Amino acid sequence: KPVVAIVGRPNVGKSTIFNRIVGERVSIVEDIPGITRDRIYSSGDWLNYQFNMIDTGGIDIGDEPFLAQIRHQAEIAIEEADVIIFLTNVREGVTAADEEVAKILYRSNKPVVLAVNKVDNPEMRTNIYDFYSLGFGEPFPISGSHGLGLGDLLDEVAKHFKNLGSDDYDESIIKFSLIGRPNVGKSSLVNAILGEERVIVSDIAGTTRDAIDTLYKYEGREFVIIDTAGMRKKGKVYETTEKYSVLRALKAIDRSDVILVVINGEEGIIEQDKHIAGYAHDAGKSVIIVVNKWDVVDKDERTMKKFEENIRDHFKFLDYAPIVFLSAITKKRIHTLMPNIILASENHARRVQTNVLNDVIMDAVAMNPTPTHKGKRLKIFYTSQVAVKPPTFVVFVNDPELMHFSYERFLENRIRAAFEFEGTPIKIFSRER
Ligand code: GDP
Repeated sequence: KPVVAIVGRPNVGKSTIFNRIVGERVSIVEDIPGITRDRIYSSGDWLNYQFNMIDTGGIDIGDEPFLAQIRHQAEIAIEEADVIIFLTNVREGVTAADEEVAKILYRSNKPVVLAVNKVDNPEMRTNIYDFYSLGFGEPFPISGSHGLGLGDLLDEVAKHFKNLGSDDYDESIIKFSLIGRPNVGKSSLVNAILGEERVIVSDIAGTTRDAIDTLYKYEGREFVIIDTAGMRKKGKVYETTEKYSVLRALKAIDRSDVILVVINGEEGIIEQDKHIAGYAHDAGKSVIIVVNKWDVVDKDERTMKKFEENIRDHFKFLDYAPIVFLSAITKKRIHTLMPNIILASENHARRVQTNVLNDVIMDAVAMNPTPTHKGKRLKIFYTSQVAVKPPTFVVFVNDPELMHFSYERFLENRIRAAFEFEGTPIKIFSRER
């Protein structure tokens, strides 16, 4: 998905516009610390456009002087975004700070759409012509508080989406990325995987702003490893803000089929590991939990089991994810990784037979009667798999309100027991027949 950033000096109304556009969807990443506390990253859609949004105003740069902050936020937006909305404000007109932002945006070669906020009524439109002086062409009048003009603005933004090179790989290529806190060993793991005997690195597919993609073959299949960790080693300007590696990780997750959540075996699980894994789960990606640095852990015969129980306890929502213990440095059990990635991606893309699926559901209903509410019982007519990546099922019922969360969970467990969807989340929706 393309990334749109809103840039502008403080108080022009960036957060208002951001919330107008992404609306309720902000909750998708609500739990990721440092991101949604400031609500800086969210997925938006507007009519048929789908994109991710960054509100640079939400980025906390710390105690830098005013102009330095503005500059820093703009630089971040330039690095991260595909299209930039340059937001100004009709009340104060063109200010020195706006000109400062404009200077930074000139130097980028990203498309910029100029918006003038707080144009709350048509009479105020005559005041927007001054903004041509900023040098970004036609200014779009909008009103965040009244919700005016946003459609025209986003139409203009979306025009630039078409020119973006697509980084989509062929459906048959398995795409995966490694996420986890700094120093858990992601880069070392990438090297260990690519150094494995049977891996043939056929090509470096491309280096985007956010990640290094490496295309390789393993046992006759093609894979792309989307490596965000490697980027840091290049010492880009935005590395000063830790939040950015999180942003990049989110984008890598969006592009992947399988996510390796890497945990440092020496340190155990930390809250931040959970948040990022939660994003992968919500995005419907397959997940493998990788416990790295297992070579330096003091072990007896129960250590692994205890660690595993601890992981299951912390990652209840990832009960389908395989756990592998290994060492990127000694290469011990590195060879278990590729088979797990293959398994998780095959399950992610798997379609089950409709008649078998319906037998499973009918057996489940016979085993555990459907819930009732106010004297009315849920009736299940038919179940259908409507999508893959992840496998998604629609249960046709008499009244979706009657489908209780716990019953849906029960059906999911029955589907898992029957089809072994190891590694992948599955989604279930109820619809009225
Ligand atoms: P990243 O920030 O997640 O990419 O982590 P790096 O791959 O840069 O690794 C951070 C540090 O941990 C480096 O000093 C590595 O040598 C070390 N390291 C990575 N994997 C292992 C491992 O399996 N065992 C041990 N002992 N050290 C490791």
